[in-house]
Amino acid sequence: MSSIVLFGPPGAGKGTQAERITDQTGLPQISTGDMLRAAVKAGTETGSLAKTYMDAGQLVPDEVIIDLIKERITHPDAKDGVMFDGFPRTIPQAEALATITEVSHVIAIEVPDERIVERICGRYSCAGCGSVFHDTFNPVAAEGCDCGEWQEKRRADDNEGTVMSRLNAYHEQTSPLAEWYESAGIFHRIDGDRAIDDITGDILAALQ
Ligand code: AMP
Repeated sequence: MSSIVLFGPPGAGKGTQAERITDQTGLPQISTGDMLRAAVKAGTETGSLAKTYMDAGQLVPDEVIIDLIKERITHPDAKDGVMFDGFPRTIPQAEALATITEVSHVIAIEVPDERIVERICGRYSCAGCGSVFHDTFNPVAAEGCDCGEWQEKRRADDNEGTVMSRLNAYHEQTSPLAEWYESAGIFHRIDGDRAIDDITGDILAALQ
């Protein structure tokens, strides 16, 4: 089995693109952020540990993340490969991933720092289907999401207070992975500061 990694800063549009690529490739999306938010909501031990870090805009410890991934990858839908969204975020996570599955493509969605704050602070999603919207760039229709179960949801950590810490964590702990994957010849840079459809088109082309 061979898997894809969606790589990039918070607010780059990884979740939005993951949803579209899943439709095209059939590979299930594995988002460690979504898994952690589900654990927080369910009130599990992992959730309450993770919440402290998430609220501060810091990365959750590697052992916690690696255990989540090791378990998730055993599910039947992962047998032909998956699309990781927001994982790996550190060198130890990438090392662990290399022992779990082969990575065929790392898609880096690049967005300059100065655009990240406005992108993160205006975003929201549909609680019914998970589609992502933005107050300015991609507002939901007046009648709500076309899934028919429209309910607006905003993430607790999508605020100006945590954005800078999340960006710092990205630059210090995650961006060094670019070199690691570049030297493996599987790193594809995509300009993420464009129309959503154009970005999807380039990602699909890189995956060919
Ligand atoms: P995301 O939804 O990917 O933006 O993640 C939201 C938050 O969850 C991050 O700011 C981190 O606190 C935590 N998180 C998600 N994925 C990881 C990961 N791979 N490693 C460490 N922390 C993570």
